[in-house]
Amino acid sequence: MAILKIEHIGIAIQPNQENIEIFNKLLSQTPYKAEIVESEGVKTTFFQVGESKIELLEATQSQSPIAKFLEKRGGGIHHIALEVDSLEQEIQRLQSLGFELINPEPKKGADNKLIVFLHPKSTANVLVELCQSTTPLENKK
Ligand code: ZN
Repeated sequence: MAILKIEHIGIAIQPNQENIEIFNKLLSQTPYKAEIVESEGVKTTFFQVGESKIELLEATQSQSPIAKFLEKRGGGIHHIALEVDSLEQEIQRLQSLGFELINPEPKKGADNKLIVFLHPKSTANVLVELCQSTTPLENKK
């Protein structure tokens, strides 16, 4: 079992085209994918940056966690996502070390991933997502 890489950095933005365009210019590319995750009340927009990604997060509902984050902080880096080869084993390992999970049962995230979030109070106030690809062959290309 292992943590493979920083899969993506999640950045919360106010929902407007200007904010997407900032990243188009910054990264000199357009997003390869945009996807709404209904269960989280969020629209995600992905840029590939080397072997990692930047995930822009916009709230689609006023009660979503991203809406609350934007209300409190205005926007900015929201979470770091670590790709693991076995979510089940990493959850066990981290729980045995005392880390707390927000959702111990993996759920379906954006971009064909199964995900869990660690509670920031057990990770020095950094929201950490663990993700495992559900399409391993496609991702290895
Ligand atoms: Zn994420």
